[in-house]
Amino acid sequence: MIPETAAMDTTEFYRQLVGIEAPWRVTDVSLDLEAGEVTLLLEHGGERVSCPCGRECAVHDHAEERRWRHLDTCQLKTFIRCRLPRTRCESCGVKTAEPPWAVPHGRFTLLFEALVIELLLATRRMSRVASLLDISEAQVAGVMRRAVARGMERRREEDIRRLCVDEKSMAKGHSYLTVLGDPERARVLDVCETRCREPVEQLLAATLGEEQRNAVESFTMDMWEPFMQAAAKLPNADIVHDRFHVSMHLNEAVDRTRRRENRRLAGQGEDDMKGSKYLFLRNFENVKPDRIEHFTRACEASRDTATVWRYKEVFRSFFDCLGRREAGLFLGHWYRKAVAEGVPELTAVAKTILSHAKGILAYIKHRVTNAAAESLNARIQALKASARGFRAFKHYRNNILFHLGDLELMPQKSE
Ligand SMILES: [Zn+2]
Repeated sequence: MIPETAAMDTTEFYRQLVGIEAPWRVTDVSLDLEAGEVTLLLEHGGERVSCPCGRECAVHDHAEERRWRHLDTCQLKTFIRCRLPRTRCESCGVKTAEPPWAVPHGRFTLLFEALVIELLLATRRMSRVASLLDISEAQVAGVMRRAVARGMERRREEDIRRLCVDEKSMAKGHSYLTVLGDPERARVLDVCETRCREPVEQLLAATLGEEQRNAVESFTMDMWEPFMQAAAKLPNADIVHDRFHVSMHLNEAVDRTRRRENRRLAGQGEDDMKGSKYLFLRNFENVKPDRIEHFTRACEASRDTATVWRYKEVFRSFFDCLGRREAGLFLGHWYRKAVAEGVPELTAVAKTILSHAKGILAYIKHRVTNAAAESLNARIQALKASARGFRAFKHYRNNILFHLGDLELMPQKSE
């Protein structure tokens, strides 16, 4: 308790510091120096108060006292305590009024929540934020959850012309995360827990309204059948298989061939292909000068890897084609020559490419770069690393949307 003579000054000091305005007033300030805490007791001094529905009502009675953590003042942990007024509203019945300093049911003031959000954005570590502010990780997670919920709520009915979808493997060879992205704003729209058709369809339906889905022009993805089927939810969008994913398939064919030949050569005691994995996977101009000799030897030793590698390198020119007609001719020519080589890995990837020709040619039309989606993937990877121990999908989703959703996260009283 503060001595009565000092109380006027102290309550006024805290009223101004915390920004309390009539009809709310500070009626008491109690200091607990041992605990390093100060608690402000607030009261609603008016006779009328707004019901949560907006109607002005007479004050009916007061609810049980509640407590909110506020920003520290004068290096003391600062709490607000108040018995909130209750209205007896004609339409809602008896309702507790919402205080201007907190979101409904929150245990922190708006400013304190905003601080938690700022610190989380800066550190990306829930444990750090929890220990900095001396609150629990569960409380930090609660702030994050509310921030994401309000951010998702605030996303306007905006025009999204391009979408991309990609999978991200979670545990080696097992679970997948499907990431729905907006390549133009480099943000994650939402994620779901599998890469199967139905959940991805639901994801599309939940993320975009019907009008928005009708307005999407391109949907960029790998040649993954369930994603292609889910594209039916976007009736006016072209499926686009982007450069990155096509190159990935070609690189896999090169690597499969190299492994087969390396095994054969190693069985004969020859090691010319040893250590050549990244020489074949890199674009040729990126092979370092001092490795060219090794690369040449590996190419000469291999019957097939060098062939598949050559077709991979040649295919890069496809992406420079200016029009769809030129690109179509290129593709047909490349396919016929590739299959005629008679290398099984090359034939397989050529067939995959031919059967997805429509989506690959659509790349030439839309020119959607996958740079945004790739950088999102890398950033999701980084979050995964800093979110060790949080296996639950919901939590991971919140974490991704909080950091990569480009959401308006801050609490505001205008909600
Ligand atoms: Zn009401």
